[in-house]
Amino acid sequence: MTEPTKTPHYPTRNVVQLKNLQAASRQLQVFELDAEQGLYVVQSASEPGSFYEVSVQPEAMTGQCSCSWARYGGINCKHVLAALRFAHAGKGTLSFWPSQAAAQRQHRRTLQGQQLYATLRPRQRR
Ligand SMILES: [Zn+2]
Repeated sequence: MTEPTKTPHYPTRNVVQLKNLQAASRQLQVFELDAEQGLYVVQSASEPGSFYEVSVQPEAMTGQCSCSWARYGGINCKHVLAALRFAHAGKGTLSFWPSQAAAQRQHRRTLQGQQLYATLRPRQRR
């Protein structure tokens, strides 16, 4: 057996899963530790008194999280999605899509992550 050198295969997500995850992420409290470093703590959904440490790269639309899903190789957990939305909140509202085609149908600026596409709806200017 040799070590895989390519990007490992992550379970793919369909629209329903991502929509559920996105809805769940919206319920979670996010606290900023260090915005420049992309460090946040995000509330656990199953244990609201617990928090996970999340670090995100907002422009790359990726992040790492201390929850067990992420520690076992999962990507784009709801905590990362919540932190990404928080990190972009000054610019607008993020929506997440599982495919580029789905994102492009929104006719918004699209940001690409790992098997994740996000669109940014700009804040209303007055
Ligand atoms: Zn997580």
